[in-house]
Amino acid sequence: MTASPPLFIATSDLAAITRGRAVPASEEEAVLRRGVGWVPADLAITSFGEIAPNVFGSVGDLRLLPVPASRVRLPPSGGLPGAGLCLAEQVYPDGRPWECCPRVFARSALDDFKQATGLDVVASFEHEFTLGGLRPTAPFSFERYRGAEPFGSQLLQELGELGLEPENWLPEYGADQFEITLCPTDALQAADRAILLKEVVRDLARRHGRQVTFAPLPDPDGSGNGVHVHLSLRDAAGRPALYDPARPGGLSELGSRFAAGMLNHAPALSAITAASPASFLRLRPHRWSVGGIFLGERNREALLRICPTSSLGGGRAAEQYNLEYRAADATANAWLTLGVLIRAGLQGITETYDSPHPWPEGATQEDLAGVPALPGSLTEALAELEKDTVVADWFHPHLLDTFTSVKRAEIEHVHDLDPSTLCEEVSRVH
Ligand code: GLU
Ligand code: MG
Repeated sequence: MTASPPLFIATSDLAAITRGRAVPASEEEAVLRRGVGWVPADLAITSFGEIAPNVFGSVGDLRLLPVPASRVRLPPSGGLPGAGLCLAEQVYPDGRPWECCPRVFARSALDDFKQATGLDVVASFEHEFTLGGLRPTAPFSFERYRGAEPFGSQLLQELGELGLEPENWLPEYGADQFEITLCPTDALQAADRAILLKEVVRDLARRHGRQVTFAPLPDPDGSGNGVHVHLSLRDAAGRPALYDPARPGGLSELGSRFAAGMLNHAPALSAITAASPASFLRLRPHRWSVGGIFLGERNREALLRICPTSSLGGGRAAEQYNLEYRAADATANAWLTLGVLIRAGLQGITETYDSPHPWPEGATQEDLAGVPALPGSLTEALAELEKDTVVADWFHPHLLDTFTSVKRAEIEHVHDLDPSTLCEEVSRVH
């Protein structure tokens, strides 16, 4: 009989790196109840491995308390044994949630949203990434799809077996670029799955001896790897709340306010959702990432895209209708990304902002010439985050300070690199 593999209990930190520690399988049941030890200052580790200045220092202790529903078992293959992986919340030793834990941040945003609106959030995170070691092939081609085999089939199979509900696997536009999408689900679970997904992909790539990167821009002249976050809202009876065919773009009054919150706070949000020094090289016009801060019907240059619906096979628009936030990438913590989008949406619902104009599909470049731009760099985005007191107040001061400190240390780490070396350095760690 083969022994069960150890279970790795993990958080996803401000560098969007999955960090934690493993316990023997025999301890699993006890650890699910009691957690494992963790250190507050770990939150200040940058994606390059340095510890940024922080308030925690060498003192204090936490527990990583597993979220049992997030537990997955990665299969053994070749010489590599299998592994259990389970996400965790960071809590004090007496079990109180740690106010700097990114998952706690997302969970409390969703709880507050539900309490204020009665609505549940459904989400899905789409990931693009670059797979190394393949010969050059055409965008979207069957040839690229087949050239990546058996990686692709195994990925779909594994995600299915792990309960992550894969939806599409496709050869994307950029060189060696692929995309994997998961089905929409409860928003917190969707963020958990986004974190697990990256590890499943990396683990499979490891077993295939392939390099993989989720970096936002592996090559400054190439295509970006985005994370597109799809959001929809449901009332207590499970009825969709974003759709109203009588209104512009089909966006309900409530949906319009939800969108207004994200659009109004977009410059500050982008510091959280596009969180590496390379991220803003991707977020430029004509890259089909984000060309400006606007709401667009089926427009891939919009910050917020009203996604298409299809009546084929009896499909109903209200069920499919969703908003896609396009200014995220995989260097951002998925829980913080979700948390700030939900808090911004809630802000839009509870405050009075101008109702956004959904730019129709036919909007021309000239029409859109006046739309505001996102910050041009992470440095600018961090300044926007600190300036936007509404957004800054969503965070415990220690969490905000640690975040800005980590990000400024990452900027400092690459400050003298040319764009190409900068993109390479970010690709090495993401
Ligand atoms: N690769 C684009 C990005 O950086 C997205 C392309 C698409 O619409 O799938 O976001
Ligand atoms: Mg894509």
